[in-house]
Parts: sequence; C-alpha cells; structure tokens
Amino acid sequence: MIRAAHNGVNRGEALWYHAGLPLELPDSTAGNPMSAQILDGKAIAADLRETIKHRVAERLASGQRAPGLVVVLVGENPASQVYVRNKQKACEQVGFHSELIELPKETSQDELLRLIDELNGRDEVDGILVQLPLPEQIDEDAVTERILPTKDVDGFHPYNIGRLVLRQPILRPCTPRGVMTMLERTGIDLVGKDAVIIGQSNIVGRPMFLELLMARCTVTVCHSKTKDLAGKVGAADIVVAAVGVPKFVKADWVKPGAIVIDVGINRLDDGTLCGDVDTDPVSEVASWITPVPGGVGPMTIATLLENTLQAAELHAEQHA
Ligand code: NAP
Repeated sequence: MIRAAHNGVNRGEALWYHAGLPLELPDSTAGNPMSAQILDGKAIAADLRETIKHRVAERLASGQRAPGLVVVLVGENPASQVYVRNKQKACEQVGFHSELIELPKETSQDELLRLIDELNGRDEVDGILVQLPLPEQIDEDAVTERILPTKDVDGFHPYNIGRLVLRQPILRPCTPRGVMTMLERTGIDLVGKDAVIIGQSNIVGRPMFLELLMARCTVTVCHSKTKDLAGKVGAADIVVAAVGVPKFVKADWVKPGAIVIDVGINRLDDGTLCGDVDTDPVSEVASWITPVPGGVGPMTIATLLENTLQAAELHAEQHA
C-alpha cells in the first residue's frame, strides 16, 4: 500500500482552519489504512460565505446598499431550476439582494438581449447570471458578450477571460477560482508544481489552466485526443479532473502524494452522485482529495457570491 503524504504536518496539529477553529488530522492509526486528507469544499465554502456575510454587514453599516444579483432562467430544465434555487438561497444567506427572472422556453434571442440591456442599465444590479444551457434558438456566446464585463459574475465574458490571460484578472470563472481557493487551503506552495488538467472546456479546463499558470505551476491540459493520458497524469503533482465521465481517473495513474481535484458531477443510474475520479482507491495514493458531493460544487456557488461582492465593490468605486 502506498502511504499518503502528510505534508510535514503531524497528526493532531492544526491543519487548516474552519470558521477560525483548528481542525484535527484524522487518526490514521485507528485501523484504517492511511488515506488522503479531504479538501472539504463544504467547510471552506462556509468560511468564505461567512467572510462575505461580514463584508455585506460592513457595507450596510457604512450606508452602502447590499450587492444585487439577478439570475435569468429560460425554460424549465429541472437541473437548472435546482442550480438557480441554490444560488438564490446562497444569496439570501449572505444578505445579498437577489432576483430571479424566469422566461418561457420560446423566448427569442432578441428578447433576452433586450432584458440584458435593461439589467446592464440598472445601478442596483451588480451581477447578471444567465443560467446555461439556453434553448437552441438562443446563441449563448451572444448572450455572454452582451452582459457588461463588470456585471459578468460568471467570468465568462471574453473581456474577463482576456484579463485572466494577461494576468490582470477582474471577474474570474467561478469553478476554477473556487479550486484555487481550495488549493490555497492546503497550505502547499504551488510554485513550480506540475499540474495536469483533464478537460479543456471554456468554463472549467481552459480558465483552470490560466489560474494554475498564474500561480506559477507548469500546466498540461489534456483532452479526448491526448496521447498517454495515464502517463501524463502520473507525472503530475496536481491533477484536476473535469471530464464528465464517472470515476474516470484511476488510482494506478496517480503519483503518490499528488493533490487530486475532482470537478466532475455525474449522476449514476442508482441516483447517487459521483465525480470524475475513482475516489476511494485514489484516496489511498493522493495526499489531498476533494469529495463529490461536498468538494468543488459548494466552492463554485460561494465563489459566485465572492464575484458578486467584488462586482458591487467595483461599481461603488466607479460611482465614487
Ligand atoms: P465538457 O465541456 O463536456 O468537457 C469535457 C472535457 O473532457 C472535454 O475537453 C473533453 O475533451 C474531455 N474528455 C472527454 N472524454 C475524455 C477522455 N476519454 N480522455 C480525456 N479527455 C476527455 O465538460 P465541462 O463543462 O468542463 O464539465 C466537466 C465535468 O465537470 C462535468 O461532470 C460537469 O458536470 C462538471 N462541472 C462541475 C462544476 C462544479 O461546480 N463542480 C462546474 C462545471 C462543470 P475534448 O475537448 O477533446 O472533447
């Protein structure tokens, strides 16, 4: 059995902090084989939300308004309805003003673009999020590009992606930014680490590449045409899986002591959720691993709140 690294932290010492309280390392001598430390996205996201809530309270106390997020949902995709509900609930918990605009699935592209123009012009709206996917009559790129870059809290606008390319980020895509927040919590110096990302989508893989490069990692991006994927994964200190294939990353691919970030969310036939990493066996090899659920998912929503607060602060500066 390969033993997971403990990054120089002794069992029983504080490892990282949850809501200001030191967490204890699990007792690896209690009969179970030693396994990777869990990067608990739920706990880290809760910390981030607490910080945001505090900042909102400070804004209100100083006479500023609460940050405002408008979520636009077109059609009745059940998964989108759940995501939108979760985002609204998260907004309420931190004291944001949130508004949901639901449009019928027949909505035309022109109608949606007119709505975005109206929201772009409303001062109390700091963030506009159009839930994807959109019905086929609507061009998603046209919609993304219509949102003012300072209100683009998803971070998908070409302007915001361009700023990230140039190492001058403003609003950054939520999932990769959330992953960076998690990596920071390991306390591990990322500089010079070899990172492999599996997946090259515009919303995860590509911005993840830019984030890790900005953190001075050496980054390889893999996709469905990559040769010797297992070999590339095996050379990595950090592996980010964003494939959309259940339990795709196998334990014998992973370098002992690697940090493994599982972005995937897949629903199995029995209704349970799993990621893109074969979590249990990989946990026996990795030093840190994110669970699914309770890993990257909660960080994405908390980072959306972080972006909305940042947008509100940008708008306050613009109007000062
Ligand atoms: P996507 O757009 O479908 O991209 C999947 C990527 O995986 C593509 O680049 C594809 O390569 C690559 N790929 C597919 N099969 C492969 C194989 N056999 N070997 C190597 N690469 C392969 O997916 P996405 O939107 O990035 O999402 C990925 C996963 O993350 C999904 O499970 C999604 O639900 C989840 N997700 C989670 C969150 C969160 O908050 N946790 C957020 C977003 C997405 P090609 O480009 O060559 O086709």
